[in-house]
Amino acid sequence: MKLGRHFTVFGSAIFCVVVFSLYLMLDHLQLDHINNPSNGERFENGQLGILQDKIDHLERLLAENNKIIANIRDSVINLRPSVKDGRGFLEAGNESQVLVVPSAPLIVPIDLEDCQFSSQTYSKAADTVQMLDVYDLLSFDNPDGGVWKQGFDISYEENEWDDEPLQVIVVPHSHNDPGWLKTFDDYYRDQTQHILNNMVVKLHEDKRRKMIWSEISYFSKWWDNIDHQKKDAVKKLIERGQLEIATGGWVMPDEANTHYFALIDQLLEGHQWLERNLGVKPRTGWAVDPFGHSPTQAYLLKQAGLSNMLIQRVHYSVKKHFASQKTLEFFWRQNWDQQSSTDILCHMMPFYSYDVPHTCGPDPKICCQFDFKRLPGGRISCPWRVPPQAITDDNVQQRALMLLDQYRKKSKLYRTKVVLVPLGDDFRYTEAQEWDQQFNNYQKLFDYMNSHPELHVQAQFGTISDYFEILRKNVGMDKVGMSVGLSPFPVLSGDFFTYADRDDHYWSGYFTSRPFYKQLDRTLESHLRAAEILYSLAFASVQKFGKPNNYPAAENYKLLTAARRNLGLFQHHDAITGTGKDWVVVDYGTRALVVYNPSEQTRTSVISIYVTTPHVHVLTAHGQLVNAQISAVWEDVSHASTELSFVASVPPLGLAVYQLCKGAEPQSELAHYMFLKPALGHVKTILMVTDGNNNILNASFSLEFLINFDLWMSEGRNVLLLQTLKLKEDGSKHSIKVEFLCYGTTSKKDKSGAYLFLPDGEAMPAVIRVTKGPVFSEVTTTFTHVTHTLRLYNIHGVNGQAVEISNSIDIRGEFNREIAMRITSDLNSKDRFFTDLNGFQVQPRRSMTKLPLQANFYPMTSMAYLEDSGRRLTLLTAQSLGATSLRSGQLEVIMDRRLNQDDNRGLGQGVLDNKITANSFRLLLELFNSRENTAPFSYPSLLSHISYMYLNHPFMPIVTSLDSTVLALAPYSPLSSPFPCDIHLVNLRTIQSQVEGGPSEQAALILHRKGFDCSISTKNTGLLCRTTGGKIHLEKLLTELKVISLIPVSLSLMHQSPRGPVEQEINLKPMEICTYRVHLA
Ligand SMILES: [Zn+2]
Repeated sequence: MKLGRHFTVFGSAIFCVVVFSLYLMLDHLQLDHINNPSNGERFENGQLGILQDKIDHLERLLAENNKIIANIRDSVINLRPSVKDGRGFLEAGNESQVLVVPSAPLIVPIDLEDCQFSSQTYSKAADTVQMLDVYDLLSFDNPDGGVWKQGFDISYEENEWDDEPLQVIVVPHSHNDPGWLKTFDDYYRDQTQHILNNMVVKLHEDKRRKMIWSEISYFSKWWDNIDHQKKDAVKKLIERGQLEIATGGWVMPDEANTHYFALIDQLLEGHQWLERNLGVKPRTGWAVDPFGHSPTQAYLLKQAGLSNMLIQRVHYSVKKHFASQKTLEFFWRQNWDQQSSTDILCHMMPFYSYDVPHTCGPDPKICCQFDFKRLPGGRISCPWRVPPQAITDDNVQQRALMLLDQYRKKSKLYRTKVVLVPLGDDFRYTEAQEWDQQFNNYQKLFDYMNSHPELHVQAQFGTISDYFEILRKNVGMDKVGMSVGLSPFPVLSGDFFTYADRDDHYWSGYFTSRPFYKQLDRTLESHLRAAEILYSLAFASVQKFGKPNNYPAAENYKLLTAARRNLGLFQHHDAITGTGKDWVVVDYGTRALVVYNPSEQTRTSVISIYVTTPHVHVLTAHGQLVNAQISAVWEDVSHASTELSFVASVPPLGLAVYQLCKGAEPQSELAHYMFLKPALGHVKTILMVTDGNNNILNASFSLEFLINFDLWMSEGRNVLLLQTLKLKEDGSKHSIKVEFLCYGTTSKKDKSGAYLFLPDGEAMPAVIRVTKGPVFSEVTTTFTHVTHTLRLYNIHGVNGQAVEISNSIDIRGEFNREIAMRITSDLNSKDRFFTDLNGFQVQPRRSMTKLPLQANFYPMTSMAYLEDSGRRLTLLTAQSLGATSLRSGQLEVIMDRRLNQDDNRGLGQGVLDNKITANSFRLLLELFNSRENTAPFSYPSLLSHISYMYLNHPFMPIVTSLDSTVLALAPYSPLSSPFPCDIHLVNLRTIQSQVEGGPSEQAALILHRKGFDCSISTKNTGLLCRTTGGKIHLEKLLTELKVISLIPVSLSLMHQSPRGPVEQEINLKPMEICTYRVHLA
């Protein structure tokens, strides 16, 4: 397509914003732009209004979702007083546990066997592709490849198919985004329902016609609106193999910013719907539009029982290289897997896009002529200015040979004589006429090809699984097999970030865009997970002890279902909100505070809540006074409200109860404050802070700040922030500096011109506030656009091991700016750094000078780290952001971006909806024994894993009134001991019953055994757990619930596991995610 560079650059701005749906908008705009350039400006004004409406709508939905989850949570909590027989299920807890101040063992007991996994040496087998090596190999030049612009000339011999004909499988598809330009409902009303309605009619007209569908969010909405007759007709189409559900997730999720909890949740929701309504088990994944692809998704599809998958948006240089090596089809294997248990057969599409011009073969000008929706007189045409021709007896020979030439050339990029040709685009097949145009014309072409044996071709419509079935048969593999010895396909490990679709147009901006929503998303996930687990435990207890009359089990389940589906939809849209602190107002007498610990580990951590008076103290459920701190919450420099912080200790998945009492005595300790700022108007009058004031410390370490206004004012140096971290354990000092920078984005070149972030002369000068108190101490620096806080908790244990970083970013007054936080350490990390993928696994990275700056940014979903021979510096994050390491010892995170339009493109406007965004992080410095590690895998430490849980699944405080008429609230402790350190309870999700959409007595128990690095010491980390070789005896873990049945199943519950029918003891392999169908009572 002949599009200007300016278009590409500003196209990228908007693409970065939300995940999939914007592609649709650009595509439409591209066409508008090409067809009618004068239309551009008018369009763009309408665009902005729609965009704003869409954002407002998204926010309303998110607020609603939060309400739903809060409702469920409250209802579960309220179940307690309603148990009238005095032995309510929530009272069964071991109360002494709540009060225990953890006496941590010095070193966590870890079996040596548990360490073998992470310390295994890496050996690369033959015919394997490691993506890190591919990046080393490629020059990332971008020569003009001719008709296949990003590729090369493809030639073939006429007689190549004489012995074995070419098999062509044309797969009709329609990509339906949960919309952006329009809402989900509007898209459904205007387009999607017509596509599906026409599908039923048009597929029944001819049994040779096929279609695939992937978004269950749309499909289920349609299903609810059609009559029984039509439902039966759909089932018939599925039985006959004319209609295939590909992937079958609630949406086609983003793979960069999503957490694996949400990826699993939306897949499960889609698959459960399919099982209940259609009895369909998807076999093949279909992901044509996510901006880059993650091996985590490959793993999850494999665990869900799928055998094949297709991906599309991969860097054009990688595609070209793979095409030349014929490695576009491969078994995708996880980095850590030394056998083949995680292998899934993957087809990578070779060309620029999934539209018709880029799917029949290398020449888009030719392929476009076979998109019969673009026949002259229609609404869309071919930008290459050669229109399609309807197929007639007169032209069929010429047209068939022309198309066959493209099919043959495409097949030359693969190792077999089977070629896949997707036929579709966004929201295609809406009108009956379009079905006739595509299917009738193609059928004439196929009939011609197939009736001329001298062409040696067999062409047909097929589903995506038809393609893989024929492919597997062609090479002698069974339908579902993995990479068996004689498979012609290579094995590939690694990921496909960061995506570039052309030139230096890297799609790394969307790793950060709209961080406000990204944080909301993570908060929502955490709340949904908590609600799911509490609901399942409560429901099991209700079954055991009898159901209180007023417990709304079915109503709550409906709300849960709504919340799951909303969250599923947002995996498409990058939605997330910074909710800040829970507001609890102690305005009269005494209130009870119930604290829920959503983690599977015992936790001692700080609860902070807003209160209306500083005259408040905290008691345990038994009346013992709790250590508490009263601090000011600064709304601006001169105004503050009051915050109460105290240390709570709560058993795993349990509830603890505290009393908040108003009254002058006993007084909670007030925090001490110190303010430092240069005198206004007297730049040379400098307030120097002397030693002794410029550090804060806790039991583990101290932080030293260089606070030198003189240097800052005179040299513009960023010297108001953290400089040194000193470990108490060995007295070692480590240089760790935090800075903020701005990137300009007005033009492509500016992007590399990073400059230090400093307020201009007229702006408010930086203010530094030092807070010291018994529970926490912190240093807050306020700049014009950034408020940056470093906090240390004065707690022994996990919470005291990390520095908490909170940034509040407000760049609403700026244009074309990206704000980054840069942490510069003295670690000798060279060009190597590590970022996680979907919170599931860690991917080693290398920053490369041969790549442009923006290409070196990678998604950071849960953490990024640097290491040298003796230390590892980890930044854990509470929200997905883009991160990189541009120099040895440096870690850089983009905090927010604000882009405006600059020319006649309206797209860039989409990133002007910035909000004040709170980003939070934890910084961990860990020591280990000297080593050199160049393996393509790496694992966080146990402390890092557990610290991440503190950040992403914090305590959830719930306030209730202490009314004398209800029974006193008692602590609740469903587990007799914490889970093993390395096993994470991903979810305990009550399964929907077959009838009425209510809860069944079974739940999906999803567990993940995390890989962890054993060379990092667990000494004095405060961890209270141990490792068990991946074993859990569920019933022994439960205090009073019994395990009625426990059945291993595939990830999304669709398949029985070959691991046997019932296990009492669960046994997980390292890194494995497993689902069990469990009945507790
Ligand atoms: Zn899309």
